[in-house]
Amino acid sequence: MVLSELAARLNCTEYKNWVKAGHCLLLLRGCLQGFVSREVHAFHRGLLAAAPGLGPHATCRSVSRCSPRARQFQPQCQVCAEWKREILKHHTNRNGDVHWGNCRPGRWPVDAWEVAKAFMPRGLADKTGPEECDAVALLSLINSCDHFVVDRKKVTEVIKCRNEIMHSSDMKVSSVWLRDFQMKIHNFLNEFKNIPEIMAVYSRIEQLLTSDWAVHIPEEDQRDGCEDETRIYLTESQINEIEMELLKEKLQELYLQAEEQEVLPEEILNQLEVVKEFLRNNKDLRNGLAEDMYKLDSLHQQHEKLDSKEPGAQTPEGKT
Ligand SMILES: [Zn+2]
Repeated sequence: MVLSELAARLNCTEYKNWVKAGHCLLLLRGCLQGFVSREVHAFHRGLLAAAPGLGPHATCRSVSRCSPRARQFQPQCQVCAEWKREILKHHTNRNGDVHWGNCRPGRWPVDAWEVAKAFMPRGLADKTGPEECDAVALLSLINSCDHFVVDRKKVTEVIKCRNEIMHSSDMKVSSVWLRDFQMKIHNFLNEFKNIPEIMAVYSRIEQLLTSDWAVHIPEEDQRDGCEDETRIYLTESQINEIEMELLKEKLQELYLQAEEQEVLPEEILNQLEVVKEFLRNNKDLRNGLAEDMYKLDSLHQQHEKLDSKEPGAQTPEGKT
């Protein structure tokens, strides 16, 4: 039977919770994109109005040397130096980590999104707009840029939950956890009462989190006449798509952690093994993730080689 693997996975309540929570993040991302895009442009216009010297006529004098790396950026020209100062002025985390490596400073005068990326987490250098970003990127921007007037505690609570979802090594969360998540999403969405498209997703998220989530099986559709209203039916491919997207994000996160050596190689290896074991048992997901797994495996092997050759050596940076 085609559904067997998916059905078996969804039989595990904690795994189903994990997918539901992830689906919720995808809905959140979807409803924030338009809003964030508009606000980022408004923010950029505001900066230029306050400091006209930073506008489209300002040009970086040293594009090759004004190039940030990770958290480091030493501007080599007046324009970039001024932009950096201006960005920091609006950064709520200006004394902490700012991921300058996301940005192409030479584009700051003309490209609002390049400015926005200075307020986001690492690993977003190649993203050219909010439609390419995951929920945590957009949430971090809202949290770190003072243009957004919100209760930041409500934003950081959701970010914390998102990290717990992505770092869950066995891809499971408890039902108690899910209820807590629901409350935090609820509190967050309430900050945007005057944004219709964000409010529109409110009921969908509520429904998703409280419903018994069933897979739509056509032949069983007319099994009983009365439709249970608390049930949300998704097709097999819809659920598969959600799982795939979540797993991809999880692997990407693992990759960034490995690349930046934020966690011990053993921990990465352990997590990798859990995902591998999971994929061994679920071949419907395996094919779509082969490339991501390969990328992680090669990075890990590269690290191991470096470690055995020259202990304590720095891993070369730079991405493909
Ligand atoms: Zn410059």
